[in-house]
Amino acid sequence: MRLRTSEEPIDLFIKNGLVVTMDDRLNIYHPGALAIGGNSILAVGPEQDLAPLALKATEVVDARGGAVLPGLINSHTHAAMTLLRGLADDLPLLDWLENHIFPAERRLTGEWVYWGTLLASAEMILSGTTTCCDMYLFEAEAARAIQEVGLRALVGEALYDFPSPNYGPLEKGIETTRDLIRRYRNDSLISVAVELHSPITCGPELLIRAKGLSAECRVPLIVHLAETQDEADQIQDRFGVSPVEHLRRLGLLDEQLIAVHCVVLSETDLETLAAKGVQVVHCPKSNMKLASGVAPVVDLLRRGVSVGLGTDGCASNNTLDLFQEMDSAAKLHKVHHLDPTVMDACTVFRMATRDGARVLGLESRVGSLEAGKKADVIILDLDQPHLVPLYNIYSQLVYAARGADVTRVIINGRTVMKDRRLLTLDLKEILSRANRFAETLRSAGLN
Ligand SMILES: [Zn+2]
Repeated sequence: MRLRTSEEPIDLFIKNGLVVTMDDRLNIYHPGALAIGGNSILAVGPEQDLAPLALKATEVVDARGGAVLPGLINSHTHAAMTLLRGLADDLPLLDWLENHIFPAERRLTGEWVYWGTLLASAEMILSGTTTCCDMYLFEAEAARAIQEVGLRALVGEALYDFPSPNYGPLEKGIETTRDLIRRYRNDSLISVAVELHSPITCGPELLIRAKGLSAECRVPLIVHLAETQDEADQIQDRFGVSPVEHLRRLGLLDEQLIAVHCVVLSETDLETLAAKGVQVVHCPKSNMKLASGVAPVVDLLRRGVSVGLGTDGCASNNTLDLFQEMDSAAKLHKVHHLDPTVMDACTVFRMATRDGARVLGLESRVGSLEAGKKADVIILDLDQPHLVPLYNIYSQLVYAARGADVTRVIINGRTVMKDRRLLTLDLKEILSRANRFAETLRSAGLN
């Protein structure tokens, strides 16, 4: 327990829960309690030590039969791609992209991205995600939606060499990114990154420029990297090196870089990513569904690389439920290594919480339940047939729990979901808009 001061007003006191802190010592309190004041955690610890604080709290929540957890962190997604969920599955990659996804994306407008991001936000909150890292088009509209809902997010406009349906020529894309960085500089929930689509779609000039912008503004730089063998082959043909080495030569590799996927890596690439302190995001379900391969995450973790967990977009997943992603992450590496001891449940839960926070540069704010951190907290109902009996909480969370088991979501001290009811958005309206978008694709012959 770390009580900051007993004088601070307590807005919300959660008692009687199984509190999984994910702090440095992986402390678990059962029964445990947690006190929230404003947007921060004031105290967390054993029930018996904190019980007197309940008397001072404006609201007391009895979490008996539930787990109190840090909000989950989706370290990579394309939120508005919820609108393309299930549009065209089980196809060869190029056919899928060129004949289905790209034509559908050309129909997107800022308005549709706004509604698609609201749909994603609803899904994320209902499955216990409190922070996401988003990369898409019309990102100002995505940020507007995320801000209205009250999610925490790192956002950025996807940059590439060819004209974008949003900003047009690249020059405007850089301006769009600068505007976003300025607009959200002091926002309590939203921060902005410079986001590059990939080393194939971004030439050396853009890669270097984006790095310069990220360094100048002191914001993270994000890129899809080494996702497929095809990408590795193309970079080899054009530049004679691997995608990782290509970025190293251009000066992009350092602790500010968040590299998403990292599937096709040589031994040298692994060493380079570790030596440079690059942050990595693992998207196992997307890599499986698109048949990209298995990212060498076990080897990255052994070398001390920070790895977060991401769902990627809904066209290649098809859900944003991080509980499913955790289950897949653990099992994919076990079967790949033919070793059930790799990627244990606690390691995977760390990837979806504190390690994800570190990857996104948000470690001082979120990722664990500790006094002084922002109050991003979820409560999960353990009192259900598929979660009883309970021997090991991490096993239960990774292998048995589902997003639908989350009963309460608090972000930045504000309750945004209670008893499966979303409090900050109009779900009916969002579902209706999403269905309307599907109609526009159908009437254009795109489905
Ligand atoms: Zn992606």
